[in-house]
Amino acid sequence: MAQVSLRNVYKTYGNNVTAVDNVSLGIENKEFLVLVGPSGCGKSTTLRMIAGLEEISQGKIWIGDRLVNDVPAKDRNIAMVFQNYALYPHMSVFENMAFGLKLRKYPKPEIIRRVNEAAEILGIKQYLERKPRELSGGERQRVALGRAIVRKPLVFLFDEPLSNLDAKRRVQMRTEIHKLRLRLQTTFIYVTHDQIEAMTLGDRIAVMKDGKILQCAEPMTIYDKPINKFVASFIGTPPINLMEGRIIKQERRYYFDEGKFKVRLVDEMVTVMAPYEGKPVTMGIRSEDIYDKLFVSQASPDNTIQAACEVIEPMGAEVYLHLNTGKHPFIARVGAHDRPEVNRDMDIVFDMNKVHFFDPETEITIV
Ligand code: ADP
Repeated sequence: MAQVSLRNVYKTYGNNVTAVDNVSLGIENKEFLVLVGPSGCGKSTTLRMIAGLEEISQGKIWIGDRLVNDVPAKDRNIAMVFQNYALYPHMSVFENMAFGLKLRKYPKPEIIRRVNEAAEILGIKQYLERKPRELSGGERQRVALGRAIVRKPLVFLFDEPLSNLDAKRRVQMRTEIHKLRLRLQTTFIYVTHDQIEAMTLGDRIAVMKDGKILQCAEPMTIYDKPINKFVASFIGTPPINLMEGRIIKQERRYYFDEGKFKVRLVDEMVTVMAPYEGKPVTMGIRSEDIYDKLFVSQASPDNTIQAACEVIEPMGAEVYLHLNTGKHPFIARVGAHDRPEVNRDMDIVFDMNKVHFFDPETEITIV
């Protein structure tokens, strides 16, 4: 186990592709850090530079207290698990797991002990003699994890390890990785484009875009206090609802005016929002902060709007209402038994304590 730190790290390909743009990041000893962001944002490149598979164009990387800029991958004492497992097809599961140790000339009894121990942890002891082609995708990924575990590395690096699995297996493996992490007590750096994986696995999440880290914080901080519109929209399912409008003042009260409706700002937001009077802003509200008025005991005209319910999607434990103000479509997540009439206007209540406002130009969170 070790801490990892990146200071002002850049990666440029050729002349003009900046894949990683001035990334500084400290990962604590035994921390599980997730790098998340859309495809092409520089996550894998960052991970590969930590692994030593990619040269650093500028900046410094430490693993533990060792500056590793010039240390080759094989000497960094890290283990990497890839999306495509990268197993040797002609070798048995045992041989695949033992391979790295053999290369490093570990004594045979030690190799056998470590492989058996890892196979036990991962529940793949019964497959040790099989070839990878005789295993399911989930089992292969376990072997790939096993190959990393036997090395007892300082740091585990995961590059989208679950992307090749079907949805059900992915959820299962997520739990397995959780358990593994508790058992191994090591530092993990995990790359994914899947925000649910990021939320559920990470002690902290670093959200990346265009080669930069936009925000790095605990999952619920990212969810509740996103630094800008991109982070707010990227994290959360369904995505946060966004509406363009204006801040207006009437009789000493401040409102967000969408055009088809207006809702009153709560007192706590007034001081920060007052300078935006008369100006356009974007309001963000998460689907769980929107209610059908029939199920709200204390609604007020200040935060009640009219919208038409266009589609009802039952999800089992809850229902998604696809609503429309006439200007903006939005989604509310309501109780499983809430079935309003379709294509009729209904009263909808916004929890105005939970809304966010973004500057329409910079997209930075105002509140
Ligand atoms: P992510 O893992 O977030 O999907 P990557 O780190 O793989 O993103 O890529 C970041 C950017 O760098 C992308 O624009 C990608 O096209 C570019 N890139 C990655 N590898 C190379 C390469 N070997 N040569 C040129 N450009 C590359």
